[in-house]
Amino acid sequence: MNVDLHSHSLASDGLLKPAAVAMRARAGGVDVWALTDHDETSGLAEAKEAAEALGMRFIPGVEISVTWRPSPAQKDVTIHVVGLNIDPHNEVLAAGLKGIRSGRDERARRMALDLEIAGVRGAFEGAKKYAINPELLSRTHFARYLVEVGMVSSTHQAFNRYLTEGKPGYVEHEWASLPQAMEWILGAGGVPVVAHPGRYKLSTPQLNRFFGEFQQLGGGAIEVMTGSHTSEQYNHFAEVCRCFGFRASRGSDYHGPGESRVEPGSLPPLPRDLTPVWQDW
Ligand code: AMP
Ligand code: MN
Ligand code: MN
Ligand code: MN
Repeated sequence: MNVDLHSHSLASDGLLKPAAVAMRARAGGVDVWALTDHDETSGLAEAKEAAEALGMRFIPGVEISVTWRPSPAQKDVTIHVVGLNIDPHNEVLAAGLKGIRSGRDERARRMALDLEIAGVRGAFEGAKKYAINPELLSRTHFARYLVEVGMVSSTHQAFNRYLTEGKPGYVEHEWASLPQAMEWILGAGGVPVVAHPGRYKLSTPQLNRFFGEFQQLGGGAIEVMTGSHTSEQYNHFAEVCRCFGFRASRGSDYHGPGESRVEPGSLPPLPRDLTPVWQDW
């Protein structure tokens, strides 16, 4: 069974409508598929209808932006926690997500000011054009604008030169706390999953401390096979699952044609000895 539990649509920073992402997933051979837009569930109804029409099992999901501090002396990091099999109509979850979305506009204005100083004009309006969901203006939309105006040749370069920590278009931002995100996901009947754990700027001990807190708050799964991991990281995070007793997830983190390293459904399968997060579904 081909299971892909991480993808994005135009409801956040993907390039395709939810139904079109479903078609790409089906074309990639996916049998069980989740849409997991950033801080947003408005694409799930369309995704479910399309997925089921195509003969896939649909899992409603969301990818929540979390701010976590490794220790009082250290700087915050942003960590993504995917909620799988959530009830998208849960009111506490919906209100929580709305709250974190509401900070994005002001953040985008600060990013645009910084970019202006760095010589990039009109970035707020420019990025906004790409954000089909006006509540979800993301760095990805700025990256597309930076490519459009020729400041960089790819969105990848836009992140490297402008949109990551220490670069001129990066601003600090406070997302949900880890306990909040966990409460929203668990309260909506979902399973919290640490997204692409190999991508954070944390040392192995710091990341292990994060896993410990996540587990204490009711977290039981992490992504092992993701488009963000190298094959060494597949092995490392499989081992993390064995040590912590986590279930394992698999998801491409597909954002659309030309913007993703892997197509939906194309990652290697999970190591056979791990318990898949979808085991009981
Ligand atoms: P935001 O939630 O606005 O901070 O945007 C985060 C999104 O930016 C991620 O979900 C990715 O889609 C994208 N992103 C982050 N870092 C990179 C990178 N280095 N290269 C390409 N895309 C990135
Ligand atoms: Mn994204
Ligand atoms: Mn992510
Ligand atoms: Mn993602």
